[in-house]
Amino acid sequence: MEDHELAPKEVIGACDIANINLQRALAYIDSDQNGLAKVLQEPKRVISVTFPIEMDDGSVDVFHGYRVVHSRTLGPGKGGIRFHPAVDLDEVSALASLMTWKCALIGLPFGGAKGGVICNPKVLSQGELRRITRRFISELGDNIGPYIDIPSPDLYTDEQTMSWVYDTYDVMHHGNNNRAVVTGKPVLLGGSEGRREATARGCRDVTEHFISKGLVPDLSEIKGARVAIQGFGNVGAVAAKLFCESGATIIALSDSQGGIVNEEGIDLAAASDYKNIHGTLVGLPETLSVTNDALLELDCEILIPAALSKQICAHNAENIKARLIVEAANGPITPAADRILAERNIWVLPDILANAGGVTVSYYEWLQNLDNNQWELDDINARLHKLMRKSTDAVVDRWQSLQRLTEERDTELGDDGADNASPYPADLRTAALTIGVERLAQVTAQRGIWP
Ligand code: GLU
Repeated sequence: MEDHELAPKEVIGACDIANINLQRALAYIDSDQNGLAKVLQEPKRVISVTFPIEMDDGSVDVFHGYRVVHSRTLGPGKGGIRFHPAVDLDEVSALASLMTWKCALIGLPFGGAKGGVICNPKVLSQGELRRITRRFISELGDNIGPYIDIPSPDLYTDEQTMSWVYDTYDVMHHGNNNRAVVTGKPVLLGGSEGRREATARGCRDVTEHFISKGLVPDLSEIKGARVAIQGFGNVGAVAAKLFCESGATIIALSDSQGGIVNEEGIDLAAASDYKNIHGTLVGLPETLSVTNDALLELDCEILIPAALSKQICAHNAENIKARLIVEAANGPITPAADRILAERNIWVLPDILANAGGVTVSYYEWLQNLDNNQWELDDINARLHKLMRKSTDAVVDRWQSLQRLTEERDTELGDDGADNASPYPADLRTAALTIGVERLAQVTAQRGIWP
């Protein structure tokens, strides 16, 4: 089985989803700011490049790559570069807008960006990946830079990829301190302590703080919760470890080839060793195999999609049994599924909050690089913890005021209320988006529109 096991079942484009979600937020924002919708619906800058690469067997292949900056209102572009066969401009553009909302929600001085190269890293050698990375970065030229647009890791790119990004840019701009051009580098090359674990750590901080508020019935702490995780990459594997450290039982894990289940709890060290040897988790002794689809529907308290987008759609949202879904991946739930989950009282901690730990520690890395400094791990984790809790509080507070607003509107509408009601719920995603969009609207008004 290949990655197609994770293929989405609902036919809706990534930008269509981003725009539906944006409209959901705009419905709650002061109407005179709504002119902004036109601006925010489209990316500010789109770069598409095509380049040849000499493959190991001597043949030449042509690759396509994209870098999209959705907004620079709050600062330089920031966001990952992914290497995946399913990369396309629509998806990269949607992911860039998610980065805008994410940075705005958390209060980071960055705009949103994303990049990607259409390729299958599983069949490429290290040499081929290096040549693809270097050529892609050289094609982007001065469109990236410490104060212009700062890439970082994403799906199937890692510290090694970021080292090549840095090296290529540094060769092209020697004589400067170029470390801040890219984040997610190895620590020796100016990477930040804690960056590798940051996305999963932020995910745990947000989950822990959210459930301590008592809003999820019968779930007030991670300890004792049964957790299913889709994905065993940088985010999924570290989330498994951290949730386990907090006392959860990890009952299911998966990779692109399928999932594994053990109701008593999976031995994570054994799972990592097995994956290193066999290239997959499937077949780990003392576990049963499940498909990635079936994993999502397991009976558990917390479900963490940490793989691809559009995994929980209209067709399977009815079957989800978890009480809380934590979006470690970007965009794993479609708007149609959001509605079904809300009707079923299943909570969703949205991606722009739940996985914001990664870009937050990327910001710390950028600050350390500009200052030629290296912070201590404990300081970094403490800062991250504080910011994730504060952002969670902000989202929950906003959600509560959206609830009040919705009730007032329904009362005003009286019997017609049902007919005029929004087709989408005022959930935590809408709440988080309203904070991000509102901040952007305010700063746009302060800066004014050029000229
Ligand atoms: N790719 C990650 C994300 O989607 C990290 C971005 C960053 O560190 O800049 O949030």
